[in-house]
Amino acid sequence: MADCIFCRIIKGTIPCEKLYEDDRVISFLDINPASPGHTLVLPKAHFATLFDIPEEELKVCATAVQKIARAVLSATKAPGLNLLQNNFPAAGQLVHHLHFHLIPRFHDDNLRLLPGKNHPGTGHDKILARIRAELQATG
Ligand code: AMP
Ligand code: ZN
Repeated sequence: MADCIFCRIIKGTIPCEKLYEDDRVISFLDINPASPGHTLVLPKAHFATLFDIPEEELKVCATAVQKIARAVLSATKAPGLNLLQNNFPAAGQLVHHLHFHLIPRFHDDNLRLLPGKNHPGTGHDKILARIRAELQATG
């Protein structure tokens, strides 16, 4: 997609700090890292979100994510690592080309990537039943 910044990186018209590339997947450092070694992994084909990518392509991404996460963890000597993937603006997605964040984590780094407090349990049963029904309907 011409107006997609990640497609431009894949084409080579915008530079990146490339870590890995094969015919299906590319990985480079995030330009605005949440922690040292913050890495992005993405399919070369343009899919906007998790909901758009075919299962086979997603499997290829998952394999690359695991391989690259191992390298990031070893290289940074981080004692932890978050895998993060945002879908749609409500979830903080800024670049609408599916990508996975690998974020090395360190003790006391004070990063807050997840909501810090639990929501009250009201409606929990209803949500549980609805999600189970969706899963049954889709097999
Ligand atoms: P998200 O909010 O999940 O869409 O994340 C988009 C990420 O892409 C952010 O963490 C940005 O810092 C990162 N980003 C945006 N432009 C570039 C770029 N040219 N090179 C590397 N990372 C980028
Ligand atoms: Zn794209």
